[in-house]
Amino acid sequence: MSKEILVTGGAGFIGLNFVYYLLKNTSYNITVIDSLTYASHPKEILNLMSSPRFRFIKGDIKKHKDIQATMDRNYEAIIHFAAESHVDKSIKKPEDFIQTNIVGTYCLLEYLLKGYAKRMIHISTDEVYGTLELNQEPFTEKTPISPNNPYSATKASSDLLVRSYYETFGLPLITTRCSNNFGPFQHKEKFIPTIIYKALHNEKIPVYGDGMQIRDWLFVEDHCRAISLILEEGVFGEIYNIGGGNEKTNLSVVKQILNIMGREESLIEYVEDRKGHDRRYAIDSTKIQEELGWKQKFLFNQALEKTVEWHINKFKERSL
Ligand code: NAD
Repeated sequence: MSKEILVTGGAGFIGLNFVYYLLKNTSYNITVIDSLTYASHPKEILNLMSSPRFRFIKGDIKKHKDIQATMDRNYEAIIHFAAESHVDKSIKKPEDFIQTNIVGTYCLLEYLLKGYAKRMIHISTDEVYGTLELNQEPFTEKTPISPNNPYSATKASSDLLVRSYYETFGLPLITTRCSNNFGPFQHKEKFIPTIIYKALHNEKIPVYGDGMQIRDWLFVEDHCRAISLILEEGVFGEIYNIGGGNEKTNLSVVKQILNIMGREESLIEYVEDRKGHDRRYAIDSTKIQEELGWKQKFLFNQALEKTVEWHINKFKERSL
């Protein structure tokens, strides 16, 4: 009999990619709980529902009765993606971030305490480490957390809750901290899809500050493969950093996309910098590479071309 997995936030960017990854590469049955916020993909969920290995429950992870509705099975694991994830939104209105990212994670931990799943993988972010100077070494799992915006502060809070439930109750918990993802199904509000959308429509492309902020990019499928490895072989109580080793300035990414799309750099428009904007993220993935044998498969340039093509097709499809 196939084993069962519960995916929270499986209608969002990375969660949805992960569901497709599991359906293609494993025999797990999957239940997704997602409240279908603006960032989700209800149409994809509808398509997935024709698979006998897939089940969807519309629900909010901060509501006990909604989580309870999923707990009619013994799960091999809960993979916890559900979150409010857009930094700019967290600066304007942090309330939803506090509720979903902190309270929602707490609610799931309480169900784990009742024994509904054999383990939980908590999907966190490199943003909890704060920012790096150019001359500093990349973040390791031992770097102290030091979040600088409400989004990363709520993620860091959830990481600490997870840590405390492992230390206090001995729950089977693992945390992952990944760098910036890109790929299919990312919401239009995020950096790379915004550039593609604006360039496609010959609109000005807003670049925060001087555009010299550095991010470490990873293609989403490489992230999904890392989580899948952790699901099988990860050690309880551990944190695993996952990074692309692709440090790029925001400006260079904009220029590369304009080049792929054959658009002029004159579309670039420098706008006021984001408040508390972290200057540089870089992540050291030695631990997951050495202990679990994870290696990134996708080259940045090729994966970016593939991503640009995917988004252009989606934007055109939607405008029909
Ligand atoms: P996303 O915003 O695209 O998707 C989040 C999903 O969670 C959506 O489908 C949304 O409907 C759902 N959701 C939100 N609130 C919910 C609630 N209260 N109950 C149930 N479902 C709810 O986010 P993403 O980019 O796919 O990120 C997924 C996870 O990965 C997040 O925890 C994020 O912190 C982490 N992460 C993201 C990145 C990145 O580059 N996108 C990098 C590292 C880590």
